[in-house]
Amino acid sequence: MGKVTGFKEFTRETPERRSVAERVNDFFEVYQPFPQEKVRTQAARCMDCGIPFCHTGCPVNNIIPDWNDLVYKDRWKEAIRVLHSTNNFPEITGRICPAPCEAACVLGINEPPVAIKLIEKTIAERAFGEGWIAPEPPAARTSKRVAIVGSGPAGLAAAQQLNRVGHWVTVFEKADRIGGLLRYGIPDFKLEKQIVDRRLEQMIAEGVRFETRAHVGQNVPVDELRKDYDALLLAGGAEQPRDLKVPGRELKGVHFAMEFLPQQNKVNAGDKVENQIRATGKNVIIIGGGDTGADCLGTCHRQKAKSIRQFELMPQPPVERHPSTPWPLWPLQLRTESSHEEGGDRHWSMATTKFTGDESGNVRQLHGIRVGPPPKFEPLPGTEFTMDAELVLLAMGFLGPVRSGCIEQLGLKLDARGNVATDPNYMSSLPGVFAAGDTRRGQSLVVWAISEGRKAARAIDLYLMGSTRLK
Ligand SMILES: Cc1cc2nc3c(=O)[nH]c(=O)nc-3n(C[C@H](O)[C@H](O)[C@H](O)COP(=O)(O)OP(=O)(O)OC[C@H]3O[C@@H](n4cnc5c(N)ncnc54)[C@H](O)[C@@H]3O)c2cc1C
Ligand code: SF4
Repeated sequence: MGKVTGFKEFTRETPERRSVAERVNDFFEVYQPFPQEKVRTQAARCMDCGIPFCHTGCPVNNIIPDWNDLVYKDRWKEAIRVLHSTNNFPEITGRICPAPCEAACVLGINEPPVAIKLIEKTIAERAFGEGWIAPEPPAARTSKRVAIVGSGPAGLAAAQQLNRVGHWVTVFEKADRIGGLLRYGIPDFKLEKQIVDRRLEQMIAEGVRFETRAHVGQNVPVDELRKDYDALLLAGGAEQPRDLKVPGRELKGVHFAMEFLPQQNKVNAGDKVENQIRATGKNVIIIGGGDTGADCLGTCHRQKAKSIRQFELMPQPPVERHPSTPWPLWPLQLRTESSHEEGGDRHWSMATTKFTGDESGNVRQLHGIRVGPPPKFEPLPGTEFTMDAELVLLAMGFLGPVRSGCIEQLGLKLDARGNVATDPNYMSSLPGVFAAGDTRRGQSLVVWAISEGRKAARAIDLYLMGSTRLK
């Protein structure tokens, strides 16, 4: 334990966001730099609890008290070693993880929790800055070949783990760039893409092979992969969006969030996107009050929409932690993201009944009604409304992986929610075919994808070699 009395002496401090006036004019990360010396003070707040709930609150089981102690003692190189022992990409989780560890921090019972995510990011950045994060190619190669479908955090974590124990790993990605939702989906103002590129450089130098524009089940036959590789890992995410089946859905200007967000990522990367879906000068309504909706909101601010409303079917959550989710559970409470701070109106208990448009087939209005609480969401008579909308973005979540294509071609069993069913060792109903990340657990978090990628890699190594040193 770093400083025994640290939690009594120091208060929680985290980086400030750049001013709204400044940041809505660019797509750079919203947070300002934070001095490393101050991070050491934050690490001193860790109480090194006998039972560190943060450790189990974190889906990759980051050994948080240990690296807090090392940071406080200025032993950063050891801190990154401990951090990497459980997490392949701490520079990414340190930026975009919602930090369930902090919700579970014991100090959080009566004080603001330890700034765990900030400390994690700072360790990773210090390590990159010092050149401590270098390629770690395997000392020897096995003769085993593993194909990974999908280059999101699950596929990348699995690829790095499997390559490091000597297998020949190829990652097949249908998009033109590697990274899954880290690349196309999560806005640059949350995660600048050079952060992803920097890690990919390490993986390429370690010997992982990447093939882009390689759509398994379409231009890459899945049977060939089965023949040419000793194991196959499906990590294609949960890309089936939930649709809103109301009259007028077919009008121009009604789009899924994931039609909209990746286009802005591409433009930021210097690509030219023909007929880009843009919010500029439009009244925008975002349907869905979650994180994807907030990402659409922040992107619309930067594209200079005329007005932006975000609708949610559920009632407004409480401002404080709801009693149904006591510590150390993830709290049910109102979350205000940086995008909300930037403007727009949030509306709760709203249901959309139809869209209407002009004679050219462009959406012009959204029609809706206020509803009562779940589970019935009963429409409240007399609350019908019509609002102008020239762009509607559907951000209502995802319904699991796209089944047509390689999942259907392999004839894999699905679970009750339509995700790829696996045994506890991540093996699907077909021997030698594994699944991890959102494809297996449904739409989730980056840190869960990393956790699943690591566990699937361990299971694959065990399947191929009969034993494994992967954790
Ligand atoms: C807009 C948005 C914002 C989010 N923000 C956050 C956040 O801030 N923090 C957080 O923790 N989580 C966030 N999430 C959730 C998080 O991004 C996902 O849970 C995580 O990326 C899942 O990782 P994955 O590797 O399973 O799949 P993905 O990241 O979805 O990657 C799957 C990849 O597989 C490829 N693929 C699919 N099928 C094939 C095929 N047949 N052949 C070849 N390639 C294929 C896809 O093109 C894709 O690149 C967000 C999600 C969205 C949609
Ligand atoms: S990965 Fe997420 S949950 Fe784990 S320590 Fe980092 S911020 Fe916390």
